[in-house]
Amino acid sequence: MRVNENILISSLTTMRLGGPARYVLEIERPEEIPDAYDFAATYNMPTFVLGYGANTIGHDEGFSGAIIINRMHGISETPTPDGINLTIMGGEYWDNVVEYACKKGLTGIEALSKIPGLTGAAPVQNIGAYGQEIADTLESIEVYDTASHTFKTLSHDDLGFSYRKSILNTTEKNRYFVISITLHLTPGQMEPPFYRSIEKYASDHNIKDFSPQGIRAIVSAIRADKLPDPLEKASSGSFFKNIYLTEPEAEIAEAKGYPVYHGKDGYKINSGWFIEKAGFSDKLLHGFRVNPKAALVLINESAKSYQDLAAAREEIVNKVYDIYGYWLEQEPVEIINPPVKIPGVN
Ligand SMILES: Cc1cc2nc3c(=O)[nH]c(=O)nc-3n(C[C@H](O)[C@H](O)[C@H](O)COP(=O)(O)OP(=O)(O)OC[C@H]3O[C@@H](n4cnc5c(N)ncnc54)[C@H](O)[C@@H]3O)c2cc1C
Repeated sequence: MRVNENILISSLTTMRLGGPARYVLEIERPEEIPDAYDFAATYNMPTFVLGYGANTIGHDEGFSGAIIINRMHGISETPTPDGINLTIMGGEYWDNVVEYACKKGLTGIEALSKIPGLTGAAPVQNIGAYGQEIADTLESIEVYDTASHTFKTLSHDDLGFSYRKSILNTTEKNRYFVISITLHLTPGQMEPPFYRSIEKYASDHNIKDFSPQGIRAIVSAIRADKLPDPLEKASSGSFFKNIYLTEPEAEIAEAKGYPVYHGKDGYKINSGWFIEKAGFSDKLLHGFRVNPKAALVLINESAKSYQDLAAAREEIVNKVYDIYGYWLEQEPVEIINPPVKIPGVN
């Protein structure tokens, strides 16, 4: 385990905000995981598990505890009757995994190309894009359970997946350290109808190759056109979640003229539509640019403080609610210090 002290969270997260973390513990072998939690417990420090920091935001005061990062690498294959189970260590960069699978002609994760982050984080918010989500192919994950201090396997069904959710970020938040994940992938390709933007890009460019490599190329091109590369422009991807509706809610929204999309995961409205219509597209708010090509994305152009982000968020959320009556929900998680215990007070 590598132990680092006083590392700026802004250097570990793609939105590039956040003061120093007291410790950053980098795990290189599974046996080190209990040591990392014991280390934090010895000093009575809180812990936060971080990956690439593409969906996590730091606060100005930093973190008085230990950030723990999975730095374990490796991909192994187990043949199954109809395909391959890939077991991937959580420290692998996610897009390298997609590239690996696509090169082998395996379908199941090609539409998840170019999502920044480490593999260990992928099941946490059930990453999804262009009609696929990791829940579609995930068989199981290996974890360290901080409640029982044991290593465990959790199956797909244990994980309670839904849109941007699993037990790992809801009922069992912060309980499990993801060591590795196992995906079941098969030779073949995605079946049409494809996600609207994939259909459009393919027809505009006269593309007929929908093999995993072909879809990866299309998705990569669409994303390069409308999403910032976090290495060049600080952002945490979609800052707001899309709005999911029940059927009666969808009927009301459609009657109001809002663009409701009926996908395989239910009725939804792209929150970016409201942000754009509310007049925020390309606006600079407290140092954050509302991405003109995908208004769900906030780009940190010059903000140095979490307070700036809070102010930009408040402006957008309040105006969208005032005009359209929907509260936008934030997607990225935040690294927050627990309240200080004051004897006799709390
Ligand atoms: C430009 C851009 C585009 C994006 N596009 C998409 C998209 O299309 N679809 C999508 O779903 N997301 C998207 N995201 C969000 C982000 O890429 C994903 O959420 C990704 O999975 C985050 O990985 P990470 O390693 O950076 O996670 P982090 O931000 O480091 O962590 C995210 C959460 O996972 C937890 N976590 C991390 N590693 C582990 C582990 N080993 N064990 C247990 N918990 C862990 C953290 O505690 C935290 O709660 C985008 C982000 C950016 C910046």
